Amino acid sequence: VCPQVSGELDDCHCDVESIDRFNNELLFPKLQALLQTDYFRFYKVNLNKPCPFWTSGSHCGLRDCTVKPCSPNEVPEGIRTEARNKVTELDKCEKSEALGAVDVSLSDETREALKNWTKHDDEAQRFCLLDDEWCPDSQYVDLLLNPERFTGYKGPEAWKIWTSIYEENCFKPFTVKRPLSPLYSSGRSEGQCVEKRAFYRLISGLHASISIHLSARYLLSDEWFEKRWGPNVSEFRSRFDSELTQGEGPKRLRNLYFLFLIELRALVKALPVVKEGSFKLFTGQPQEDCRNKERLLDLLHTARSFPLHFNETSLFAGDETEAAKLKEDVRLAFMNISRIMDCVECFKCRLWGKLQTQGLGTALKILFSELPSSPPSSRLTLNRQELVALVNAIGRISTSIKELQNFRELLAEDT
Ligand code: FAD
Repeated sequence: VCPQVSGELDDCHCDVESIDRFNNELLFPKLQALLQTDYFRFYKVNLNKPCPFWTSGSHCGLRDCTVKPCSPNEVPEGIRTEARNKVTELDKCEKSEALGAVDVSLSDETREALKNWTKHDDEAQRFCLLDDEWCPDSQYVDLLLNPERFTGYKGPEAWKIWTSIYEENCFKPFTVKRPLSPLYSSGRSEGQCVEKRAFYRLISGLHASISIHLSARYLLSDEWFEKRWGPNVSEFRSRFDSELTQGEGPKRLRNLYFLFLIELRALVKALPVVKEGSFKLFTGQPQEDCRNKERLLDLLHTARSFPLHFNETSLFAGDETEAAKLKEDVRLAFMNISRIMDCVECFKCRLWGKLQTQGLGTALKILFSELPSSPPSSRLTLNRQELVALVNAIGRISTSIKELQNFRELLAEDT
């Protein structure tokens, strides 16, 4: 029995079958090739930040939760030095902007405040926290050597994370006062507005993707000489089969497709930034850098060729003050979710949780950071950490959609 997910998705003029075809045949192979490159495989992350919300127990201690950080010489010199130079450049640039913009007779205190405003402006556009790349606790991790898969992290600790995400930060739809369908017809309603519902669906889609990965790369056997990872059909069914989940499984899979559409649309909107001559995927190996930029542009053009894109202008539309307030609510809720990732006790889950929330946060920044009233100076910019997170995040969702196809085939064989 295959979890039924087919046909048109809510809120989008797009159907599951078109996404399956587009992803599995076109996008997935291109993404996989890009994610093998040095630029995208090395991700700098601080896995040692304390949980800001509660005193978490010790780390879970599961063997498969271990993350192996890179030793410095494993990461291309260009990537490391670029990160260091950026820090010095940013520092210089902040100083000159602050000084250039004000009367030199201003006190040091005022200049300091202006410097902080500049920083604040950039942060005000973000939907998630980025780890300080130069913080001594941040380390490079080779994502290919630390794949997202079954770790055994479960029980009250894992539940506490999901519960606090859904109950406290996710505008969970149980607060809806009346059914909201079709969403487009009413826009905002007495119960829950389209934007908050969309936000819930993104988080649920991310949760579904994690569940697919752990089912697709399940620990099948654990002998002293070998561990074997592969698809576990009954694990997959227990999470997504309609009967076993009281109808929730297929809805969660639909949320996964919705998340795919949002991240795909963000890729397209990143195209003008990446196209600029000065935008480089710098690793210090000029030929490789050039080839990677071509590959990335090719991926973004492929993303643009998808005919049924989500229309993001339907969100945060209407009265500008109300829309700005709503956007701020959503931004802060997402910011909180990115902080909760520091409470995940399994390091491997924390790594991929942080990366995927940063990727989704970057997608939301790309789609929603500009208001019609934004000055031209607040043009979209992306740093390496954001780009690496975004491309890896859509890489995860694209892989989940591909894995679904595999599960469909395995389930068909079973019956
Ligand atoms: P859970 O997946 O823990 O779900 C808890 C409850 O949330 C469910 O009972 C259901 O009511 C609801 N729910 C479930 N799915 C959805 C959905 N898609 N939308 C809305 N509601 C839903 N485990 C690994 O093996 N590998 C990993 O890489 C990994 N990464 C993780 C990353 C994070 C950030 C977290 C919090 C956990 C991670 N885990 C990982 C653990 C994994 O997500 C589950 O918590 C664990 O497998 C236990 O599953 P469960 O069946 O108890 O239900």
